[in-house]
Amino acid sequence: MEYPYFESRPKKQFAAIFNINRCIACQTCTMACKSAWTYNKGQEYMWWNNVETKPYGGYPQSWDVKTLKLIDNGENTWYTDEKDEKLSPYGVYEGDTIFEASAKKNLNQWAVGYIPEDKEWRAPNFGEDVAKSNNKPDEYSSLPEHSRWFFYIQRLCNHCTYPGCLAACPRKAIYKRKEDGIVLIDQKRCRGYRKCVEQCPYKKPMYRGLTRVSEKCIACYPRIEGKDPLTKGRPMETRCMSACVGQIRLQGFLDDNPKNPVTWLIRHHKVALPLYPQFGTEPNIYYIPPRWAPRSYLRQMFGPGVDEAVEKFMVPSRELLAVMSLFRMTQTIVFEYKIEEGPKVFETVIHGKKFEMFNDTVIGFGEDGQEIVRTTVEEPLYIRDPKHYNSI
Ligand code: SF4
Ligand code: SF4
Repeated sequence: MEYPYFESRPKKQFAAIFNINRCIACQTCTMACKSAWTYNKGQEYMWWNNVETKPYGGYPQSWDVKTLKLIDNGENTWYTDEKDEKLSPYGVYEGDTIFEASAKKNLNQWAVGYIPEDKEWRAPNFGEDVAKSNNKPDEYSSLPEHSRWFFYIQRLCNHCTYPGCLAACPRKAIYKRKEDGIVLIDQKRCRGYRKCVEQCPYKKPMYRGLTRVSEKCIACYPRIEGKDPLTKGRPMETRCMSACVGQIRLQGFLDDNPKNPVTWLIRHHKVALPLYPQFGTEPNIYYIPPRWAPRSYLRQMFGPGVDEAVEKFMVPSRELLAVMSLFRMTQTIVFEYKIEEGPKVFETVIHGKKFEMFNDTVIGFGEDGQEIVRTTVEEPLYIRDPKHYNSI
């Protein structure tokens, strides 16, 4: 794959993991972002964080189907026998990325893409809660795969390793920060050509007609830099992550430390996968796929690692249960975790496999090595004293 700039892999890369299995589409994340960054004139249609329903939803409408068609050469295949732990952990994609499809079509631009029409941005909740069904009306679905299904997908800029937006910009107004891999648009350099809107396959840069420049998610960088007094100078998670009611989100940095929870879940345990890896931008937002949706659909969306990821999530290992207990336990970014073993509290058989649950304690440490959070796998149960039944 040809990319116009040198590879940019910072030592620590802004990254996040969303557990789709737990999202309730409350849109608290969406509003947390909106009320922080996009509440001004000309930003009405801007939802830097949005949560859409698959298979029918999408913002802008049909963004993924349209981009998949642009890269479809009839032979897009994954070779799962050829793997490289770091660069191609799930297999090698033998098809066209957005960059190759453009070169093949002699488009004289770095990536294929399109600018959505105004009407495609008119509602962020197209297709919300609409299920796809192969069932007859009186048939029920049952796990593991439902035949009547939908799921929610949480979307924001992926702060890609090979950003389509950055490659596309003729003004060189877009840059990827060396310290944390966050991708930003320099508002002073941007002239509003909308090449980033066109060539980001995820459609996350948005044009503001009022100021005539493009804008996008800034990964709440003042919080990431520890500027919020709440965390006393320590890096803090973004607004959308911190607000998550369903506790489905964990944000941090991808690095080489196998005891970093984000790195362990993505690179070592491989239970979290990138969105449309075939686009070729190497996105840095990862998803634990929903266990009830058809695998063929999920494979198209998250690549060939889906079967392994779903199996691991359905019958979680002792370490996975402990690490997942960290989701939404603190707003301070966890850089390393440690597990202290506890007693066995439950065992059963799930889909023919033995499952054991241990009440381990998981401890999270900040960038400075200080303990910032401590929690257990079993949620504590508080029983209210009968004399306080009616008090608030
Ligand atoms: S998701 Fe789009 S806007 Fe964000 S870095 Fe990747 S290409 Fe750029
Ligand atoms: S706040 Fe969390 S649970 Fe609610 S929609 Fe956003 S990601 Fe889903």
